Amino acid sequence: MENKEKAVLCKLCNTRKAFTHCLGCGIPICDNCVCDPESKFGSESTCSLSLCPMCIDDPAINPDAEPRKMDA
Ligand SMILES: [Zn+2]
Ligand SMILES: [Zn+2]
Repeated sequence: MENKEKAVLCKLCNTRKAFTHCLGCGIPICDNCVCDPESKFGSESTCSLSLCPMCIDDPAINPDAEPRKMDA
């Protein structure tokens, strides 16, 4: 049997099979390495974005990463 599509490994740990792709940089990430915005940002953000740890902290990619402006 020929398997054309090789299993894509997670770019971060390189050991687990990629579960999704980072919406920011597009690297394959496994379910273990993908960032969960829900756990990171609390109940305020319940969307299921798939972002790598680098992109989830990048306000340019993840608007939720931007700290709230305190000035009125
Ligand atoms: Zn991984
Ligand atoms: Zn990324």
